[in-house]
Amino acid sequence: MSDIPIETKKELGLVHVYTGNGKGKTTASLGLGFRAAGRGLEVLMIQFLKPPENYGEHVSAERFPNFTILPLGLDHMVSKVPKERDIKVAQDTLQRARDEIYSGKYDLVILDEVNNAMSWKLLDPAEVVGMLEGRPANIEIVLTGRGAPKEIVEYADLVTEMTLVKHPFDKGVRARKGIEY
Ligand code: ATP
Ligand code: MG
Repeated sequence: MSDIPIETKKELGLVHVYTGNGKGKTTASLGLGFRAAGRGLEVLMIQFLKPPENYGEHVSAERFPNFTILPLGLDHMVSKVPKERDIKVAQDTLQRARDEIYSGKYDLVILDEVNNAMSWKLLDPAEVVGMLEGRPANIEIVLTGRGAPKEIVEYADLVTEMTLVKHPFDKGVRARKGIEY
């Protein structure tokens, strides 16, 4: 268990959603994780969708004893009809998220790209809401990814939509090390 003042811990327990088509959802959650880790909170990020290549955040998190990132999800986008295997991976990742949240070991748990998994029909939003409803007290949760379903938006306490105004991808700038990954 983390050794933080009880007053800090007892204010936690809200649910954030970072969604929309503009850049900044995963990076906002990492920024929050960085802030929380600095205050001694135990931070866990479970990634539902990350290609296998090395991400800068995986390297950074290794510098913090109280910031853990687990890339457990799919390594590819899903087209209209999901494959059995994709559903299984998403379900297993949700089960792991449940186990980690319910263990009470973490103060802040970030479910990165979980919204995509719901909008692609790999996960049922009602199941995710059910997991959140049953969680122990004083655990702050962040759900990131495009297309947050309405059930999730309704359940959350804080919802931010990143609006796409411009993205350099549209003028041919590919993902850059240290900025996009
Ligand atoms: P980031 O990880 O940079 O905060 P994000 O989490 O908001 O981005 P995702 O939808 O998870 O965005 O995007 C996956 C990848 O595509 C990331 O490398 C991200 O930087 C990049 N990206 C985000 N928005 C756009 C966009 N509008 N057009 C092209 N690429 C984008
Ligand atoms: Mg993201």
